[in-house]
Amino acid sequence: MRRNTGYIGRFAPSPSGPLHFGSLVAATASFLDARHHHGKWLLRMEDLDPAREPPEAAGQILAALELHGLHWDGPVLFQSRRLDAYADALKTLEIQQRLFACTCSRQQIQADGGVYDGRCRFRKLSHAGAALRVRVEDTVITFDDRIQGSQSQSLERDCGDFVLLRKDGLFAYQLAVVVDDAEQGITDIVRGSDLLDSTARQKFLQGLLQLPAPRYAHVPVAVNARGQKLSKQHFARPLDLAQVVPSLLLALDFLGQRPEPALISGSAQEVLLWGAEHWDIQAVPKLANIRLDDIA
Ligand SMILES: [Zn+2]
Repeated sequence: MRRNTGYIGRFAPSPSGPLHFGSLVAATASFLDARHHHGKWLLRMEDLDPAREPPEAAGQILAALELHGLHWDGPVLFQSRRLDAYADALKTLEIQQRLFACTCSRQQIQADGGVYDGRCRFRKLSHAGAALRVRVEDTVITFDDRIQGSQSQSLERDCGDFVLLRKDGLFAYQLAVVVDDAEQGITDIVRGSDLLDSTARQKFLQGLLQLPAPRYAHVPVAVNARGQKLSKQHFARPLDLAQVVPSLLLALDFLGQRPEPALISGSAQEVLLWGAEHWDIQAVPKLANIRLDDIA
């Protein structure tokens, strides 16, 4: 029944805590879009920052996904095992003379309005103990988001040269995500709109590294009654694993889909089958229109 349409999607959580409703929404959206297109759905654990990742979290996330019927294709890609690939990408950018060392603090940049002005570009600092930034250009990056519509961003004006290797020696999210989306052959990225603002940086890196450009769809981010994104920082509760079907139905509601009420007495598998068949990305709202007082 599944045709191979070439669609490859993914869910890429960072294991900073157990799965909460906000991450279930992103997982469900990317899963349903992939299955609706008879595509593959891959899983990637973005575990590059061990200090922020309790050792049990990755296993908890995988178990929670399984329990919700969100079964992924192929092996899980762990970013912590991909450091050589990120180092290779940095090497490529270094050969292009795109990188420079920077010792500016976050506070300095915030005091200057939050956009890095490139002041270290010509300082020829040594790499030791410094961050590595990539030099951006004064061009506008545009793309058509399948949910959020037409987007454009000038990296120079809105963001500035950005960090690819942190002062503490960790590879930055922006670099790793681009290298791994290419490695996994991802054609379609469906993720939370808190990452919409990162997309121009990622497209810029894809261009420099000559990697394919995936399509993007940014789903609304779940917020609590105070309008804060659900995250561990804002004390989003882990999902109640005894309430799998109600959670999935709430995620579908949140995504603007209209699940049949009778599904409440079905299994997770049945909810997802219905969801994949009826998935309508046009119905996904740009902004959250459900606030989750009871979950956050
Ligand atoms: Zn600097």
